[in-house]
Amino acid sequence: MSPVSKKTRLPPFEAIFARLIAAPSVSSVNAEFDMGNRGVIDLLAEWMTDLGFAIELQEVSSGPAKYNLIARLGTGEDGLILAGHTDTVPFDESLWNSDPFTLTRKGDRFYGLGTSDMKGFFPLILEALRGLDLGKLTKPLIILATADEESTMNGARTLVRKNKLKARYAIIGEPTGLQPIRMHKGVMMESIIVHGQSGHSSNPAYGRNALEGMHRVIGELLKWRRDLQEKNREPLFDVEVPTMNLGHIHGGDNPNRICGECELQIDLRVLPGMDVAILRDSLNQRVANVLADSGLTYEIRSLTQPVPPLCTAPGSAIVKVAERLSRRQAGSVAFATEGPFLDQLGIETVIMGAGDIAQAHQPDEYVALERVQPMIALLKNMIIEFCTDDGKH
Ligand SMILES: [Zn+2]
Repeated sequence: MSPVSKKTRLPPFEAIFARLIAAPSVSSVNAEFDMGNRGVIDLLAEWMTDLGFAIELQEVSSGPAKYNLIARLGTGEDGLILAGHTDTVPFDESLWNSDPFTLTRKGDRFYGLGTSDMKGFFPLILEALRGLDLGKLTKPLIILATADEESTMNGARTLVRKNKLKARYAIIGEPTGLQPIRMHKGVMMESIIVHGQSGHSSNPAYGRNALEGMHRVIGELLKWRRDLQEKNREPLFDVEVPTMNLGHIHGGDNPNRICGECELQIDLRVLPGMDVAILRDSLNQRVANVLADSGLTYEIRSLTQPVPPLCTAPGSAIVKVAERLSRRQAGSVAFATEGPFLDQLGIETVIMGAGDIAQAHQPDEYVALERVQPMIALLKNMIIEFCTDDGKH
């Protein structure tokens, strides 16, 4: 293919990369750190417009202003999405050796907040597009940039709610060290609160002990965990079974007072095929049964909205082509992505990016220079495979 003949105003690769890193877009469930992402969205919209893409902005929240960007070339319901999130995690500048918002090329690395996870995916996409004759695309190519992946996944949830995004396949450029990933676990975080009645410790009849109720609940949870781990196993994961972590407990306030209230927070990492709604029902049922004759009441709250597991079929064309072009077998990762939400829209999704998860969410986050050209080549070839008549899909 010949490069784009139309003269675009697309800046050079490193300038694009630097401007994206310089546009702050931290997202956090803590309002103190939470920012909008308009700076990143506007830059991408400008460059994608220059390349001839039609731009749609989707509002995710208004305070602070957050948007998804859907940039589309071509029409129809087929085609390929290249997707990434525009937000980064909060940072502690005192732990960095360079300015997190200045792209710093040092040795064989590009340093900066979001270089690996994952604003750095967009310069790679733009570089791949620069090297293609976009006039030759016969199926739609969509560049998707989302908000709030690092905090609530509200960008991806908005996409599902609006239900307008159509495509057959997607690649999400989260950091996987160039390996295609087709599976990850789902996550749910729940709080169980047992309510009793406080009273003087000298006579148990003066109250109802919530801590003793929680003791029963914990016994039941560990039994449930054993059941879940006996019934569910997926060898593609390092930890082959679903996990349940008892992470935080707080109850009562004094040794000589009957504990009136006790809260336990747990985290469940579930395998593909396990349904979070069914799991929540079983949790509720088990806690209800175990506290039935205790005189205690309880409530169960979700601490965050669940992220479902991802499982793209090993025979899906997006998996097969990604495996062939990367010369790596598709695997699994331990972190969650927006993949399951695209899956809910009927889009078969692979996770594949240039960064490493070991550098994500860390001071001195970087992407290795040696990953840049291979990832650009992968993206170019994926676009040719899925969006042109030279490809077979
Ligand atoms: Zn990420």
